Amino acid sequence: MEKFRYVILGAGPSGLAFAHTLRLLGEESFVVLEKETGAGGLCRSVEVDGKPLDIGGGHFLDLKRKEVLDLLFRFMPREEWQEHHRVSKIRIRGIELDHPLEGNLWQLPVADQIDFLESIARAGSVLGEPPPEAFADWITWKLGDRIAQEYMLPYNRKIWSMDPNKLGTYWLYKLPNVSFRETLQSCLEHKMFGALPAHGTFLYPKEYGYGEVWRRMGDALGDKLRLGERLITVDPATRTVNGRYQGECIVNSIPWTFWTEAGPLPDEVRAAIGKLVQVPIAVDYHAETLPSDSHWTYDPEESKSFHRLLLRSNFCTGSRGYWTETNSARSPARGDAFRHHNPYAYPVNTLDKPGAVETIKTWATRNGIHPLGRWGQWEHMNSDVAVSLAIAAAHELRAAGG
Ligand SMILES: Cc1cc2nc3c(=O)[nH]c(=O)nc-3n(C[C@H](O)[C@H](O)[C@H](O)COP(=O)(O)OP(=O)(O)OC[C@H]3O[C@@H](n4cnc5c(N)ncnc54)[C@H](O)[C@@H]3O)c2cc1C
Repeated sequence: MEKFRYVILGAGPSGLAFAHTLRLLGEESFVVLEKETGAGGLCRSVEVDGKPLDIGGGHFLDLKRKEVLDLLFRFMPREEWQEHHRVSKIRIRGIELDHPLEGNLWQLPVADQIDFLESIARAGSVLGEPPPEAFADWITWKLGDRIAQEYMLPYNRKIWSMDPNKLGTYWLYKLPNVSFRETLQSCLEHKMFGALPAHGTFLYPKEYGYGEVWRRMGDALGDKLRLGERLITVDPATRTVNGRYQGECIVNSIPWTFWTEAGPLPDEVRAAIGKLVQVPIAVDYHAETLPSDSHWTYDPEESKSFHRLLLRSNFCTGSRGYWTETNSARSPARGDAFRHHNPYAYPVNTLDKPGAVETIKTWATRNGIHPLGRWGQWEHMNSDVAVSLAIAAAHELRAAGG
């Protein structure tokens, strides 16, 4: 038996940032267990057609969080990153418009603009009606029936591959918030008004894929990172993993669904884990270079299996081609062409998720098990948020002596 203060499950951005923050605080009694042969989780990259490809989908580093940049630049200095100003597009009515749609309707022919504006003017949110409970109704209430039917609902059906009304509305505050007044103003003045979405300015490595910084962070952990070490068994009472690693606490950044087979859990926790839903995503490489300046493009057309294109040639130096992201349930066979399958890509915001996550987290923290990251929290979060939360958690746990 190897004994540690912290047994960390998962070497994605969350586990890596937690481990390195412990180290910066002078704590060396930890081990990171990772099932794959390399660190980085969804943020890993491989080489395809001579250049890097991000196997978890399109990955860009937001610049907003100083503590995150300070940590990452220790492993990959600022000079190794290229700054980009976001160009993202939506395919609608046969043309590509800038994202978000509500702020860029002015790029459509005038008759189409009138069509959309008339529909937004009738939206419940504009008329001061209360927000509905069901997802599809909420989208129509917020954006009007045209944007709902031509973009948001088909796009959500594609990415989640489920009835949108099985999703809650509690997370929709994350959508770009463009008022009707701003939409009108943008149509009259022919420029975007309203809040820009995340990643307005972002960093991407000059010479590498997004996975490089996480690979280096993994390497820097030396033998404290145990690769190829999948969670097989866990005893929550003694906080022992795989009968070999015992922690004063376990820090869990892997999906809870792996816990149900691994050890004894209270019935209500097992039931709560059974309610969690995730979406698998296939990433497919295409060698053709597309004639667009977009970094990425959303495509709501339901006859196409993919929902987003990543135009590698526009952010990865000297590369060609693009890759697509497709819900694996919708993705057709591809023969020999490059594909990476991510069984756990998006935690799904179903109606009963908040209650289920609360049950799991309450049980876990009472037992010295700390939920971390995208899967510990079962929450959509970008890697900068995951790192920021991991830094904060390491400080808090050390300060609390846990
Ligand atoms: C399509 C897509 C696009 C995204 N775009 C961006 C973006 O542009 N910018 C951005 O910042 N973020 C983006 N993200 C989010 C980013 O991927 C996550 O925020 C980040 O990966 C979360 O890190 P994590 O460590 O919490 O989880 P993960 O990266 O999922 O890491 C979890 C780790 O646990 C390991 N693990 C799982 N099961 C076991 C087991 N049984 N035993 C041992 N180990 C296990 C996994 O192999 C993995 O290494 C995107 C995500 C997706 C899916």
